[in-house]
Amino acid sequence: MTLELPNLPYDISALEPHISKETLEFHHGKHHQAYVTNGNKLIAGTEFESMSEEEIIKATANNTDHIGIFNNAAQVWNHTFYWKSMKPNGGGVPTGSLAKKISDDFGSYEAFKEQFANAGATQFGSGWAWLVFDQGTLKIVKTANAGTPIVKNQTPILTMDVWEHAYYVDFRNARPKYIETFLNNLVNWEFAQQNFDNL
Ligand code: FE
Repeated sequence: MTLELPNLPYDISALEPHISKETLEFHHGKHHQAYVTNGNKLIAGTEFESMSEEEIIKATANNTDHIGIFNNAAQVWNHTFYWKSMKPNGGGVPTGSLAKKISDDFGSYEAFKEQFANAGATQFGSGWAWLVFDQGTLKIVKTANAGTPIVKNQTPILTMDVWEHAYYVDFRNARPKYIETFLNNLVNWEFAQQNFDNL
């Protein structure tokens, strides 16, 4: 099948106590799986069946005839990127060339952190906060629902899911507490650095 559910890049309990096994059982095993299953059903027998995941997303973006395919395929891509954006014992201040670029473009790590947290907290309803590379500059953007920067010629460096299904089991309605935990304890800066190196 074109759309596939990747294994988590760590054990399902590995992000505890911050993100529980129960959250990942539902988020990866039910939600992410459902986007894969539903997306594959929708593309079966269509021109999109022979395309790659990214090609499907780019071909269906902003096309009201194919909104269902876009939503499912983009959510498959976004979640796969999100799992890699976290790791056990992650978070905190980055190092290396990405850290320098963050300081150059945002003023300081603290300023980056504040802007990223604010983007996540102010995304009304479901969506995503992203660190992206756009025309030579690191930027923080937010997308609603299945929105993804890859259809806007922006290169994702890091993402955080702010759909309620990402945090409700562990944090209930306290989205800001989830965001703080993501930044302090979960960010996989090595993955972000790899994305920066690949530009
Ligand atoms: Fe999600």
